[in-house]
Amino acid sequence: MPQKLPALGPRAANAFGQRTGPALAAEHQKSIIAAEVLEMEELILQGNRPYVEDVLNQDRIAAGLPAQNLIGKLEALQEVSRSQKAKIQALQSGMTAEETRKFFQEALEAMPNPFAAEAGLLKGVKESVDSLDKSYGTLAAAGAGDGGAAMAEAANVLLKGLEDTTKATDRLQKKLAEVVDAAENPARDAELLALKERIEAAGAYTKERLQEQKEKHDTEVKHMKALYGADMRHIRDLHAADARTTAAEASSAQKRLQDKVADLEARLSYESSTVQKNERQCREALQTANSLQEELGRTRATIEAQNLTIAENASSRETLVGNYREAIGVLRVRRVEKVAELKLAEAALEKLRKEQDELRANYSNALREKEETAKKALEAMKGEFEKELEKLRGQLSAADQNTEVSRFRGELEAVRRDKTQLNSEKAELERELTELRAERTREMPLRPTLSSREQQLPATPLPVPSFTNALMGPPESTPSGSGRRKGSNLESPKDKLFKGYTSPYTSPYGSRAVSVFEDSDEETPAGPVGSAGGLAATPGPSFSSPSSAGGLAATPGSAFSAGSLAATPGISSAGGLIPILPRAAAPVPVLGGASLRLLAAAGPVLGGVSPSSVSGSLPGFAAAPTSFLAGSFAAIAAAPAPGLVGSPYMMPTPVEFVAAGSLKSGNIAVSVSAGVIDLTNTKIAAWKARARGNHNSEELWAQPNSKKNCCVAVKYMKVKEPDWPPNTYYNPADTDPEFACPICLNRGSPCVWSRGDSIPRVLPLPPYARTAGANPQSMGYYIAQ
Ligand SMILES: [Zn+2]
Repeated sequence: MPQKLPALGPRAANAFGQRTGPALAAEHQKSIIAAEVLEMEELILQGNRPYVEDVLNQDRIAAGLPAQNLIGKLEALQEVSRSQKAKIQALQSGMTAEETRKFFQEALEAMPNPFAAEAGLLKGVKESVDSLDKSYGTLAAAGAGDGGAAMAEAANVLLKGLEDTTKATDRLQKKLAEVVDAAENPARDAELLALKERIEAAGAYTKERLQEQKEKHDTEVKHMKALYGADMRHIRDLHAADARTTAAEASSAQKRLQDKVADLEARLSYESSTVQKNERQCREALQTANSLQEELGRTRATIEAQNLTIAENASSRETLVGNYREAIGVLRVRRVEKVAELKLAEAALEKLRKEQDELRANYSNALREKEETAKKALEAMKGEFEKELEKLRGQLSAADQNTEVSRFRGELEAVRRDKTQLNSEKAELERELTELRAERTREMPLRPTLSSREQQLPATPLPVPSFTNALMGPPESTPSGSGRRKGSNLESPKDKLFKGYTSPYTSPYGSRAVSVFEDSDEETPAGPVGSAGGLAATPGPSFSSPSSAGGLAATPGSAFSAGSLAATPGISSAGGLIPILPRAAAPVPVLGGASLRLLAAAGPVLGGVSPSSVSGSLPGFAAAPTSFLAGSFAAIAAAPAPGLVGSPYMMPTPVEFVAAGSLKSGNIAVSVSAGVIDLTNTKIAAWKARARGNHNSEELWAQPNSKKNCCVAVKYMKVKEPDWPPNTYYNPADTDPEFACPICLNRGSPCVWSRGDSIPRVLPLPPYARTAGANPQSMGYYIAQ
């Protein structure tokens, strides 16, 4: 019969208290089993220990530690833990990825930048080029303008800039050459290569170490796993053996084992996480190394690109420098040209200035010379003029005092001789007159004789008798105007005789006529007579003075009164009268006086007794003083002109103007008032028109073949007996009248007489009808004003 034993497993606490046989037997069995289990465990441990000790000592030897006798399981575990800890510490004390990157960065930064200096130089060159451009612009602007100085200045500035630029460029080029040389230096490449190798080596080393670590960990883990597996198997065996032990013991032992396993698992998981962490770190480090390598490659590429750029820049800079040098050369040439031009311009300016100064000096000299020459010429002219004047004065006085006077005296003597002859003729005539008176008829007009005046012709003038009744009495005051016109005997024979002398021209005394009109103031028209009387009144004393020539010379005005002029045919026959005016210079009256005296003597001859005998001498006589007077006065005195004059010979149909004397034998004026000439021209034209109207040739305008004894104007009246206005001087029967007819006088037209084949003549007005001081060059001498 099988023995029944208590069930295995934990027993009650009092189980050993039951001191029964079976109970004791069971307890004994159990104690044997437990002892055997323990012995087995001890045996396992003892059997595994050398392997664990060997593994752990290997790590210790690798870490430089002495091998140990790891007798206990705990000691072994402790060693495992320690070695793991030491490994981790060693890894941690090694280079981290961050540190590695930093290291490389620092190493890169520590590498010197070889292009810093070049960059500065390049900047300098750029600035120089900019300033050069600016300067060139300034120069161009100055060249466009005209400021020579500004241009020169700008050129200088530009040149300086160019020189600076050239220097800077040279420096840069030099530096660039150096840089290029340095870039081509193999040492640098070697350095770079070394650096690269170093970096690569560092990467490889890190990688290797990491790989080693990984392998080690793998081995360890593998070993640990193997250990764990063995432990587990042992534990399972133990469990199987424990089936014989009590449940309690078994469970406790199981519990302890389970705790151990849990602890080991926890340790294992920790170790594996550590390994994983290490692995990750290794991977990161590897990546970092790779990225560093890439960076290194990029840096290298950049450096190579920079090398290339530097080489290109060097060549382009050389070109630029060449261009600048060329430009500088051109500008230098230009500057030299400009400087030469400037010098030329300055020289030209200097020359011009000199010329200007010379011209100025010449001009002022010339002006001075001209002024002096003009002054000298003026002085010479003045001297000449004075000399001439003096000479003329001398001539004048000499002539006056000597030659002329003596000549005049000689002529006067001749005239006196003639007068004596005339006296005898006159006596004869008087005798004839006496006879004629007895048988005088109206048709036989009395030719005035000088018989009554012969006795009154001494060498010196005598007191003037009054002719009032005889000459100038108005028709009302005379017994009968018509009777007288017909030559009635109502007048006394003496008066009749005097009538021949009504004209002052016939008077041998220049002053007589004036006196006549002066006396007849109350009876004659107020205008002309009044003025004549006034003139006569002023120089009065000279007329009453018997000293004749002397007196006349002393009183200039007297010689030019109307009466005196009228009595001087010689003077009036020439232009010499022009300057002889009442206010003329001193020598004039002297001459006038002389002429007058001479003419006074010649008067009777002109009066009609024997004109032919005197006419021969008169032209010569008239010519001499005329030219003399004209010559001297034209030069000396600028006497006031009497008005416009003209030459009768310039008329379309020339006529002659009687200055003094009768129609047939009177003297002719060479220059006549232009007004008179105009009027005469007009009249002649009208008469020519009438001649044409009468179907006659206009050449017959003066009706030269007419038997009528009258002027042309009266001939055209076509009446047999013209109604003569009342007058005291005109004898219609006189074939050789001396004065214009009263019809023409009243009409204010020239009294023109035809003379057969000879040129027609214009008669002057009777003295009383003339304007005061009139001469042939006055309008009032021929035309009643
Ligand atoms: Zn007339």
